[in-house]
Amino acid sequence: MVKRSDFEFITVPAGEPGAGEVLVRVLYLSLDPAMRGWMNAGKSYVAPVGLGDVMRAGGVGRVVTSNDPTLAAGDLVVGITGIQDYVVSKAAGLRKIDPQVAPPPRYLGALGMTGLTAYFGLLDIGQPKEGETVVVSAAAGAVGAVVGQIAKIKGCRVIGIAGGAAKCSYIVDELGFDAAVDYKNEDVRKALARHCPKGIDIYFDNVGGEILETALSMLARRARIIICGAISQYNSTTGMVGPRNYMSLLVNHALMEGFVVFDYADRYPEGMKALAGWTIEGKLKAREDVVDGLETFPETLLKLFRGENFGKLVIKVAE
Ligand code: NAP
Repeated sequence: MVKRSDFEFITVPAGEPGAGEVLVRVLYLSLDPAMRGWMNAGKSYVAPVGLGDVMRAGGVGRVVTSNDPTLAAGDLVVGITGIQDYVVSKAAGLRKIDPQVAPPPRYLGALGMTGLTAYFGLLDIGQPKEGETVVVSAAAGAVGAVVGQIAKIKGCRVIGIAGGAAKCSYIVDELGFDAAVDYKNEDVRKALARHCPKGIDIYFDNVGGEILETALSMLARRARIIICGAISQYNSTTGMVGPRNYMSLLVNHALMEGFVVFDYADRYPEGMKALAGWTIEGKLKAREDVVDGLETFPETLLKLFRGENFGKLVIKVAE
């Protein structure tokens, strides 16, 4: 687990934007389970954050000064800002957001990276068909809640796995999932067997470990398993635990595929259009868990790994 002493808070001049660049006041920061992986040495889908570098993070901010014709002072933008108060960024790396559609923090969640993760992972890899049974883990979280709602929009039966009664009633009563499994208080295998009598057609995995193994043991023929993340394993000091029963893929003619949302960068406009459209129509709901103060970063990040966040976890840096 990360700890405060892994980080240093320093004050340096913000810098001046050069040609094609803007100076942005950061307003909200996205906290993501992936941050833990970015702190590890070794090969991954992005380079690790170097010792002494600004911690990588997505953020929403307001343009203070612009040296690029595409952005003006006052514009609200989203992009990679890092855990800091101000950032000098290339204008081309930022996207303008519309606060009329949704409040700014939502552009870090359901209308941002985690919403796009749900959209492309479920639709592109999962290929859901009407009437199929979809199971998603970390179902009340930023990615999981959107996965379940898109699956409902596509006419699937949706079962969410989440920790605790409050999250379970939220996904059923407020988001319209068909059923919830409280993995902290009930036997996941028995509950899934009850809710998925014909087996699981699509399992969208956010947690890995034991829950992945359990889901693999009850696949329907030609099931699709989407490996989005494995949060139960990110802080392991003894190595990740994988499913022992992977031969279930062969027996059930099933497919298991991993993906990273960045693979879909050229299709973000398509995903954003759909997510914004469903939000405006009232079909896609979301909640953000907003914590005040950039300096809370090390402790706030831990909420993700303790299941203490309820909705997309963001830090509010400024108004
Ligand atoms: P989130 O679901 O909003 O928050 C993390 C949640 O994970 C916690 O609230 C907790 O919910 C659950 N959790 C934590 N430890 C757990 C454990 N040991 N066992 C089971 N559940 C546990 O976070 P998110 O941003 O939406 O991310 C969800 C997953 O998607 C992560 O694995 C992340 O790495 C992955 N992801 C992948 C991509 C990609 O491109 N592939 C992009 C974004 C995110 P409970 O209270 O229900 O336990």
